[in-house]
Amino acid sequence: MSITPLMPVYPRCGVRPVAGDHCHLIDEDGTRYLDFAAGIAVNLLGHSHQGLIGAIQQQAATLMHVSNLYGSPQGEALAQRLVDKTFADTVFFTNSGAEAVECAIKTARAYHQHAGNDEKYELITFKNAFHGRTMATISASNQEKMHKGFLPLLAGFKYVDFDDLEGVKAAMGPHTAGFLVEPVQGEGGIRVASEAFIKGLRALADEHDLMLVFDEVQTGVARTGTLYAYEQLGVTPDIMATAKGLGGGFPMGACLATEKAARGMVVGTHGSTYGGNPLAMAASMAVLDAVANDDFLAEVRAKGERLRARLEQFIGNYPELFNSVRGLGLMLGVKMKVEPRGFMVHLRDNHQLLTVAAGDQTLRILPPLVIGDAEIDEFFEKLSAGAASYAPDAA
Ligand SMILES: *Cc1c(COP(=O)(O)O)cnc(C)c1O
Repeated sequence: MSITPLMPVYPRCGVRPVAGDHCHLIDEDGTRYLDFAAGIAVNLLGHSHQGLIGAIQQQAATLMHVSNLYGSPQGEALAQRLVDKTFADTVFFTNSGAEAVECAIKTARAYHQHAGNDEKYELITFKNAFHGRTMATISASNQEKMHKGFLPLLAGFKYVDFDDLEGVKAAMGPHTAGFLVEPVQGEGGIRVASEAFIKGLRALADEHDLMLVFDEVQTGVARTGTLYAYEQLGVTPDIMATAKGLGGGFPMGACLATEKAARGMVVGTHGSTYGGNPLAMAASMAVLDAVANDDFLAEVRAKGERLRARLEQFIGNYPELFNSVRGLGLMLGVKMKVEPRGFMVHLRDNHQLLTVAAGDQTLRILPPLVIGDAEIDEFFEKLSAGAASYAPDAA
């Protein structure tokens, strides 16, 4: 047998972490890596946050799982907190980002079909978007590399260029149910939607009674310096998917909606065995305790600005490697002039610095939100050494 016990769907690298220490990961052989990938925008509080560990330990010892057949004081408390802090009136808990987007898609369709408008099932989505790996969420993206081998796709998605409002207008028709968009494309290369584009989508949705759905799975939970990125764009969605940072490393997500948008999500229409289990609720409560306050969010913005200003200055030293810096808060990307993957590997293997490559020739920088000046200094030491020793052709 040549297949590995772990289904070989990932190009796994030689780094094999067995422990975490604040903003560092420790490999099987004891090597320490500075973690500016944070599990791809998941480990907001780093790897050994006492509040998060304590909350999970205590809840694990009290009650881990009960069915959604029963009342959920833990779920009610977390949902209330999210409702208080966002545009939303109601929350469905999931175990992942793709499931949160899946629920968002169902909520948008049900909004129309509940009112008898069965022809309105199509969501306009955006090129190079990433919404997850389930059948519905790959169907919501135009990326053929995710489709290959899994056809046919789910019907009901139309792809338009990101940030192209005229393209959206041209794509609208009798089947349009709404728009599904990442306020900042993450996997697509840290591409920030313009305010005019997002406001234009909001206006179109209002004018035609359509659902504006934000995928904030990567941008959400303080990553961009506000609890959700939409707060910086001057609009609110009708429906929003959130996950990644929401559990700080504990797998969970949520679909948030206004009362109006959720009118089709009535008893019996949706469900999840694990979604909203007490352990996930406790983990997320601890994350929100740490991040959902003005002081923490102001810190994220200040650190984001410091990191960005230093990055902008730094890339000027290597005009042959780097193009520009973009992003929001601590969701930053460096657009490169060479393939970012080779440089990411070089930083990882030769300088023990973890970053993530993304689309559009971009290197993603997604540190834990709890980094301090020491970690930022260490980042620039490693990045400088990495850039100085990088020979793209030899990589
Ligand atoms: C990661 C991600 C998802 C999918 O989340 P999973 O937890 O991997 O299912 C969906 N949308 C966006 C924007 C993401 O970054």
